[in-house]
Order: sequence, then C-alpha cells, then structure tokens
Amino acid sequence: MKVHEYQARELLAEAGVPVPKSYVATTVDQAAAAFDKIGGKAVVKAQVFAGGRGKAGFVKLCDTAEQVRQAATFMLSNRMVSPQTGSEGVEVKKLLVADAVDIESEYYVAVVMDRAKNTAVVMVSQEGGVEIEIVAKEKPGAIIKRWLHPHLGLMSFQCAQLVAGLGFTDKEQAKAAAKVIRGLVNVFHKYDCALAEINPLVRTKSGEILAIDAKMNFDDNAVFRHKRLQEMFDPSGENPMELRAKEHNLSYIPLDGNIGCLVNGAGLAMSTMDLIKLHGGEPANFLDVGGSVTAEEATEAFRIVLSDPKVKGILVNIFGGIAKCDTIAEALIAAAREIGFDVPVVVRLEGTNVERAHELLKEAAIPQLITATDLTDAANKVCAQVA
Ligand code: GDP
Ligand code: MN
Repeated sequence: MKVHEYQARELLAEAGVPVPKSYVATTVDQAAAAFDKIGGKAVVKAQVFAGGRGKAGFVKLCDTAEQVRQAATFMLSNRMVSPQTGSEGVEVKKLLVADAVDIESEYYVAVVMDRAKNTAVVMVSQEGGVEIEIVAKEKPGAIIKRWLHPHLGLMSFQCAQLVAGLGFTDKEQAKAAAKVIRGLVNVFHKYDCALAEINPLVRTKSGEILAIDAKMNFDDNAVFRHKRLQEMFDPSGENPMELRAKEHNLSYIPLDGNIGCLVNGAGLAMSTMDLIKLHGGEPANFLDVGGSVTAEEATEAFRIVLSDPKVKGILVNIFGGIAKCDTIAEALIAAAREIGFDVPVVVRLEGTNVERAHELLKEAAIPQLITATDLTDAANKVCAQVA
C-alpha cells in the first residue's frame, strides 16, 4: 500500500521531522485560499502515486495567488505524464499547497527493506533531488548505506556516520539531520514500511533542515494492524484487479505474457508457470483461488482473468483437495454460461471427485473448454492455442 505525499508528511511531522506548513486542496479556490493562509511564496504540488512530478510540470513555485490559480487549474485539468506513469498518465484530484523554501542544497534519505540481507537499510546521499536510480547506477559511491540490526535498530554511531556522509559539519545542522534520520527510521518501523523516503531533504539558505518531499510504501500484510494507514488508504494507488481479487479472497499477480493461469495454491502456481514456460508460453498473470474456493469466488476469478485484454488463453490447473473438482467444474460451466469465454480455456483437474467433474464438463459441451489429461498435456494445449 502507498500513501500520498501529504499523508507521508503528516507521519514524518508526528515523528519529529520538520516539514514546511502545507494545506491540501481539491479545487482552484481552495488552493488560492491556502496560498493566502501561507502568506508569501508557495509551491503547488500534484498528489499522485507517481514521481517525476517536478520535470512533468506538476510541482510549481508561485509568488502570487493568481499564479497558484493558474498552476492549480492546469494540474486539475490535465493528466500528469512522467516516466513513472506510462503514456496515458494519471488524473490529479488533490493538490498540496506548501510553504516554499529557498533551497541551498538537496539531499536524499531513505530507509528500505533489503531482502538480500533480511533487514532494513538506511541510505543517504548528497545527490538528492534528482532520480536516485540514476545516481545508484552512475555514481554508486555517492550513496552511503548502513544496515539496521533487527533488534537494536539504528545505533548512534551509524546515525553519526550517515550524518557525516551527508556532509553536515555545522553542529546545529548535524543535530537536525540526525533527528530527521532517526524520525524516518521510527516511521519505517512503527508503520511496517517497505520504503520510507525523503527526496529531497533540503538545507535552506537560512540553514534550516526540512523534508520537502516524501514517499512511503507499506507491507500489505501488516496494514491490518494500523488503523491510521487504513484511514489513509486510497484505492487509486493500487492495481484494480488485485483489489477486486482481494475482496473475493483471491490473490492476483499480474505478469507480462498472454496466458492467464487459474490455480489453487501458490506452489501449484509456480509449477504451472514453469510448465507453461517450458512449452514456450508466457503467463499473463496468475490467480490463486486458495484451498477452499466457492463457486462464486471461482466465477469472480474468471471474470478477473478474462478482464485482462492481454489474455489470449487460460490454463485452469486445480488440485481438488478441500476444493472438490466437481465444484470447480460447476463453477467453470456457470462462468462460461454467465460471462462467456472469448478465449480457449484448457482445464486440468486432479483429485477429489475428478471423474464427476469430467462428466459434468462433457455434458455441458462448451466449445471453448478443452480438457487435459495432465499438466504437461495442459501446458502443451494452452501454448498451442495462443501460438
Ligand atoms: P518529484 O519531482 O515528484 O520528486 O517532486 P518534489 O517534491 O521532489 O519536487 C521536485 C523538485 O522541485 C525538488 O527537487 C526541488 O528542486 C523543487 N522544489 C520543490 N519544492 C520546492 C520549494 O519549496 N522551493 C524550491 N526552491 N524548490 C522546490
Ligand atoms: Mn521528490
């Protein structure tokens, strides 16, 4: 799960990280009113789940209420296109109007889960503001990393090393930077983040240290224990098919190929995809209906898989244990009659009540349903269908 910049700023402010004063606006009038409250220069920023806003023209510095109106009108009536959005861009519904700062230098500070080391890593760089991926590629030495001990967390000497890495020599500024790093680490742990990033952290001309942009991703499996995050949830940041699947107790993983996979169990999904690849095919997704799927859930699963335009064929691979094969067969037939299959569906069923399932499928005589004797046969057939 992701949150917007304005929400990430709230969490940072609560953790003691200084952020400039700001207001959320959903209309041009509200944006202009926010400018009046701030008094002085302001920056208008689109609140969308994509970065690269500055270069796309969706972060604008304004000196007058009229400029704020122009910037707000532009952002609320144009889709933002950046390297992170795809060519169709994203709609802007909310703006942040923030007190603008005079920047002396920009820094990068982030905490991210390092899966290879099984712990979180704090990364800082004096090359902030720009895309950190480019810095990582071209000047990896410009990023300083310190890994957190899973129980001890951020230790004082590590924090001091990170502050030194940012190049702060002034005692007050170094203290302020240390407070920012500690605050960010606290937010990361408190809310089960996968990523908590400030880019840029700035030093202003008057020597203040402030976070002026923040990005946070949270572990979806931990959101249940954070009421605060649940309140911040905005579905426009998520894959709509994944959300739909979740609502029906299904898990959906989008991929790049053209064969939809409907399976029960993650292990079976892995072997199904291996077999598809072995036979020259590419999975478009996999939808795991879980162990105890009902007919309604299975029908919804078909709707989700079929709604992906990339899907040119479907492989259904179900091992009937708790979920009985005849239930799955009934769901298949119901789905075929209710939604209609416009692509071939290869079915491999094995396990409890499999004979009954095959009888049902035969009686129904749905032309798009192709039965397979085993997984190799199924993979062969579905790959031939989409070739
Ligand atoms: P992003 O492009 O989506 O990452 O949006 P940011 O919020 O990071 O803004 C992009 C850039 O705009 C920053 O790196 C700054 O250079 C500039 N910027 C943002 N806010 C201010 C501000 O208050 N004052 C000044 N002078 N520049 C700003
Ligand atoms: Mn940024």
